Amino acid sequence: MRLNTYPQKETWSELVKRPVLKREKLTETITEIFDEVSKNGDRALIEFNKKFDNAEVETIKVSQKEVVEAESLVGDALKSAIQQARENIARFHASQVPQTEKIETVKGVVCWRENRAIGKVGIYIPGGTAPLFSTVLMLAVPAQLAGCKEIVLCTPPDKEGKINPAILYAAKLCGVTEIFRTGGAQAIAAMTLGTESIPAVYKIFGPGNQYVVAAKEFAQNYKVAIDMPAGPSEVLIIADGEAVPAFCAADLLSQAEHGSDSQVVFLTTDEKVLEETVRETEKQLAVLPRNEMAAEALRNSHFILMKTLEEALEFSNQYAPEHLILAMENAEQYISGIENAGSVFLGNYSCESAGDYASGTNHTLPTNGFAKNYSGVSLDSFVKKITFQNLSEEGLKNLGKTIEVMAEAEGLSAHRSAVSIRLKATE
Ligand code: NAD
Repeated sequence: MRLNTYPQKETWSELVKRPVLKREKLTETITEIFDEVSKNGDRALIEFNKKFDNAEVETIKVSQKEVVEAESLVGDALKSAIQQARENIARFHASQVPQTEKIETVKGVVCWRENRAIGKVGIYIPGGTAPLFSTVLMLAVPAQLAGCKEIVLCTPPDKEGKINPAILYAAKLCGVTEIFRTGGAQAIAAMTLGTESIPAVYKIFGPGNQYVVAAKEFAQNYKVAIDMPAGPSEVLIIADGEAVPAFCAADLLSQAEHGSDSQVVFLTTDEKVLEETVRETEKQLAVLPRNEMAAEALRNSHFILMKTLEEALEFSNQYAPEHLILAMENAEQYISGIENAGSVFLGNYSCESAGDYASGTNHTLPTNGFAKNYSGVSLDSFVKKITFQNLSEEGLKNLGKTIEVMAEAEGLSAHRSAVSIRLKATE
């Protein structure tokens, strides 16, 4: 844990840096993995399963039989929890379907926009250190609502070569069309290039570790779109004197336990809250099953005493956290000051895990400062927007002169004559 009191603004740029792997080494690894998948397809994926996940598998594709069997392996309590989370996520994302509005910009000139689902999407479900079946809901529910025809899912196998039954159950519930046991950069390479069994897709979604994020960035060289760089999880908490240290500590650890490269930041204006939160974090860490991973993440994390809440908010905007918790009495008052954040949790009872699982918002969010220029996954992420226009004879007469003058000035005479020829025909 790194403790800091009233850091000078000049030092903030260092404090907002995330613990990331060396770029050159990462690029080299990703390039090699893409080459291997491109040359050897499924065979390469089977070898990578052995190398990175210690798993011997015969086939990459998960059979229908395995999916059906998985249902009986998931307990009733977990099934109903997954169903309730699915309903809330569906309700929130269905509210994002836009109404088509036709706009008459000039009399006789009507323009509008319609959504069309992206035909083939690939969703990556992390499975390295925890089987994130919640991510299946976060990606497949909006994909299904948007109307994506093919939803391809890749996730790493466990040591027996199996996929966690809850992942398979959630996938079936949300209309995933095909499931493959492959993870990391090789899964992203497979969904980008296609292999004998895995179809190449148009857009790849999903969070993952730094190999997955780097592979998604690399995939864009092959005309594949990606949702965003969603890497190692992070949370930033701003706490006032009313915050509950035990709650704050639990929230910090809930992100730290994701992985050793996660980062958590705690900002407060109250010295006592700072001391108690540090103490609580150590206390709760000691009994956490994933405490080794969380402890390593905490080594890269900051606990900072700030002069004012406004200054804390300014720091947060510079950090641009994936998750921002305002553990404050009047959290709502500060909403308009938030410029950069993936998802925000207001007050002492809005724990971040509500958004991770079941409140309805999406948990696939931009990390590593990308909340400055990316939004989290939403229904929009699964559609393209096509513009339409319809000009009547009257419309072209009203707009024709403007187009002709502009085309002439740009020296594009064919553009001009596309208008002139029509206007002449109406004389
Ligand atoms: P993962 O599925 O992302 O990665 C596991 C894979 O990494 C393995 O299958 C392997 O192929 C690859 N890998 C591991 N070591 C490697 C190496 N040395 N060289 C090449 N490839 C290697 O699972 P994970 O590791 O548990 O990470 C999940 C991540 O997802 C965490 O960092 C978590 O914080 C993050 N996450 C982010 C969000 C978000 O919205 N931003 C949401 C949920 C989870």
